[in-house]
Amino acid sequence: MAYLSLYRRLRPLAFDQLTGQGHVTRTLSHALSRGQLAHAYLFCGPRGTGKTTTAKILARAVNCHHYPAPEPCGECPPCRNIAAGVSLDVIEMDAASNRGIDEIRELRERTRYASGESRYKVYIIDEAHMLTNEACNAFLKTLEEPPPGVIFILATTDPSRLPSTIVSRCQRFDFHLLTVEQIGEKLRQVIEDEGWRAEDEAVRLMARLAEGSLRDALGILEQCSAYDDEMLTAEHVRSLTGVTRVETIGALIEALAAGDLEAGLQTLQEIIYSGRDLTMLLRDLIFFFSRLLLGGTPGRLQLEESYYGFEDLLKQYRGRFHRAYLLELIELLHGLSGEMRYAHYPQFTLEVAYIRMMRLLHREELPAAAAVESPVTPQKSGSPKKAAAPAAIAAQKPAAPSRSAAKGAAAAEPPSEQPAAPRQSARQKEAAVPPTGAAPSHDGPAGSPEPPPADTAADADWWEQLLREVKARKKVVYRHLNAAQGHKLEGNRLLLIYQSGDFAGERIMETNHRRLLEESCREIFDRHLQIRVRYVESEPQSALEGDTHTVPPPAPRESSGGGPSGKKGERSYRFEEAERLFPGEVFEVQ
Ligand SMILES: [Zn+2]
Repeated sequence: MAYLSLYRRLRPLAFDQLTGQGHVTRTLSHALSRGQLAHAYLFCGPRGTGKTTTAKILARAVNCHHYPAPEPCGECPPCRNIAAGVSLDVIEMDAASNRGIDEIRELRERTRYASGESRYKVYIIDEAHMLTNEACNAFLKTLEEPPPGVIFILATTDPSRLPSTIVSRCQRFDFHLLTVEQIGEKLRQVIEDEGWRAEDEAVRLMARLAEGSLRDALGILEQCSAYDDEMLTAEHVRSLTGVTRVETIGALIEALAAGDLEAGLQTLQEIIYSGRDLTMLLRDLIFFFSRLLLGGTPGRLQLEESYYGFEDLLKQYRGRFHRAYLLELIELLHGLSGEMRYAHYPQFTLEVAYIRMMRLLHREELPAAAAVESPVTPQKSGSPKKAAAPAAIAAQKPAAPSRSAAKGAAAAEPPSEQPAAPRQSARQKEAAVPPTGAAPSHDGPAGSPEPPPADTAADADWWEQLLREVKARKKVVYRHLNAAQGHKLEGNRLLLIYQSGDFAGERIMETNHRRLLEESCREIFDRHLQIRVRYVESEPQSALEGDTHTVPPPAPRESSGGGPSGKKGERSYRFEEAERLFPGEVFEVQ
């Protein structure tokens, strides 16, 4: 005899054998025992939840010699023939491959002839939503007034794609996804019946992986049972299905919590190179963080969590992440699942996403890690890590843009044109700025041994404050603001520097976004600030060194927030940069 898959071999032959769809089978049994039949049924629900199985049981029940009865007897010839698939009066049709009008016409013709041996001719139309519009229209009349002795059972995973004219002519039943417990229970029963042995964790894992579909669960069990004739372990299930171990996911999360990017990426590498399924990893991460966000809700949720094997991990990390950050993190992960589907190299997408997650969770602490990566960043020794780190990044960030800007200034306008004050007074002016934190960021060229000026900490402070303020007002503006490569406060102007081609720069200058940003600035600085945006080409640091005189750099594009005093501040900014780049004294400024 040909090999039959577990799912087909174990297909229930009576309603009481069906797992999990009590609300459907009870109603159908009731109607059958009273002989109240509809002429068309619509079975909706996710795949693998028992729609076709129920349709077949129904076909047997209506043709059973003992009808009306709640269940098919399973003994009489119609029951046996239909179960064996040799009855001429139960016609299964797959609408996915027979979706056209011709097939429906043929079906319509066939319904005219009375059934042979059985009481009813039953047409089971699978994937009914795949029927074309024309086919649906042709079918409509037949469905409305079917010839006597004909029953239609339409099964679909997506009832919303069926025309309402079809749906309204059927008696509708909705099949539910099975719970992890229901599937687990069924799996245990099957394992026992088959004389196999399996670890409890393995059963839980398989039940979880099936995602509510009993067909999938049995498929996984069958695949895993062939793996080893000894005990079926969770490790077998993992290696066959590509699921990442909970411990490994734990290591990934611990690295996130601790802000240890290196350890996190290392774990990620191990996961990637051991061939684990990254989509499943992502799903586990989403599950973990969303459960963390929901908090310890008692009851059913707890039960489900225990089945997922994450309960210890959840207990361990409850309260360790900020709720607002968690929400963003989950959003990021959801976006990632879409990205990964279309990514050529999902592993890199995941790695970058991990870095983004790290950044998101450690907005204050991460720059320390970034500083380690670029040894040129001057960092004050002796200052506490938390305070020094953001200062370092704030000082470093605008370094690249300001340099190219300065080159632009050097090529286009000689320093003598600048209306700004000579070197001495420029320094004094900066020193005279009140300690509200409104001092301009004083960025020395990267690689210079000169330590960052004292005001960078304050600089980082107002920037962080502004980010927080904007974020509280509107997320989208916050995102555009946060995308800035650098920022600088110049008198009454806030200069934002974006990478050339970064859309965020344009978005933040849209009137309503800019207004919101201006209002936020007023909140923090207690005065009106003009917002200006500058774009810079990204260029490696080394390319900047030495050749400032010979290579004409691209002139920075600018878009202005409006206002007459814009030009002046812009010049002094360039002047400062030019002054810093060229050695020598400034004698005269006109
Ligand atoms: Zn029977």
